[in-house]
Amino acid sequence: MFPFVYQSLPTRVVFGSGKLSELAQEIERLGARRALILTTPEQESLGTHVAELLGDRAAGVYPHAVMHVPLEVAQDARREAARLDADCCVAIGGGSTIGLGKAIAMDSGLPIVAVPTTYAGSEMTSIYGLTENRLKKTGRDIKVLPKTVIYDPQLTLTLPPLISACSGMNAMAHAVEALYAEDANPIVGLMAEEAIRSLGKALPVIVERPDDLAARSQALYGAWLAGICLGSVGMALHHKLCHTLGGTFNLPHAQAHAIVLPHAAHYNRQAAADALQRVARALGGSEAQEAGQLLYELNRKLGIPLALSELGMPVQGPAQAAQIACASPYYNPRPFERQPIEALLERAWKGLAPA
Ligand code: NAD
Repeated sequence: MFPFVYQSLPTRVVFGSGKLSELAQEIERLGARRALILTTPEQESLGTHVAELLGDRAAGVYPHAVMHVPLEVAQDARREAARLDADCCVAIGGGSTIGLGKAIAMDSGLPIVAVPTTYAGSEMTSIYGLTENRLKKTGRDIKVLPKTVIYDPQLTLTLPPLISACSGMNAMAHAVEALYAEDANPIVGLMAEEAIRSLGKALPVIVERPDDLAARSQALYGAWLAGICLGSVGMALHHKLCHTLGGTFNLPHAQAHAIVLPHAAHYNRQAAADALQRVARALGGSEAQEAGQLLYELNRKLGIPLALSELGMPVQGPAQAAQIACASPYYNPRPFERQPIEALLERAWKGLAPA
């Protein structure tokens, strides 16, 4: 057994269909009395429903969360929390809404109860992001880790099938990279394999039958485990590339993750052979099958766009992104090499298979 460090993060997790109904109890458990409910504009009616559920424990609804937490929105939300004398935040939505909760917590220390409705995994991490002058800065602070997370699969039934597929592959990426992380450890490895297995089984069912609650539960369970992976160990090439694509070309987060993942796995196929064999096994493949290829085939089966060009990345994008990523690389089992990374992005841009 190789030496390792394992640090668990102290979040209480309540999982199950219909568990949103226990939100008031969970807020009470934290000793809070006035919750500010955060949503995106698209999910405002869900926020109103939550406010009704909470009665006089709801301080108000703030329905202005948007992607990548612009500083002005964070500042406005912080003012609103102070004005309403809120003593906790309920962030109900995807990574954008939970990110706004984190920006408030960073400033005021207000505890967060997160109710995720996508598979992005932000609720299980102490990673925050804030965008100022089009530049997104990220960091880690235990203050922003949600105190409680309620996973209610019923809330994911409205997530459109294609977005569910992309968001699920975003979660898959956390688990894949956790297996070859610099600080990988056996416990996170178990969670990663289980996450890959659960998502690999559930996502094709969701695409065919979006209202299949059993598949929705299995995907959300996988997403939870993948979120723990993201929060526990460092990420590598794949996350660096997606961060670059999001920041430089404003590509949609989950879709970019889905497209790049097979290519990043292929790039690491020799340097992280054991880890990628575990990925292939968890996806139901044989020893001889390559993880990158299996992930590409899964994307195709899910009907996910396969080409970064389809997301609006310009033709000179691969060269530009390779240069930016290589200028400040993350740890990766195979060192960042400019030409092969550009070639990888070229294939992803065209939607070709990774091999
Ligand atoms: P999102 O939160 O931006 O949501 C996308 C859209 O889907 C929004 O309009 C939202 O209202 C809608 N939506 C969400 N759930 C829905 C549902 N169940 N039914 C119908 N519509 C629904 O997307 P995301 O992919 O969850 O999050 C992306 C953001 O999260 C990015 O900014 C990313 O950087 C961040 N993120 C952060 C971390 C972290 O650890 N800090 C982890 C993952 C993602």
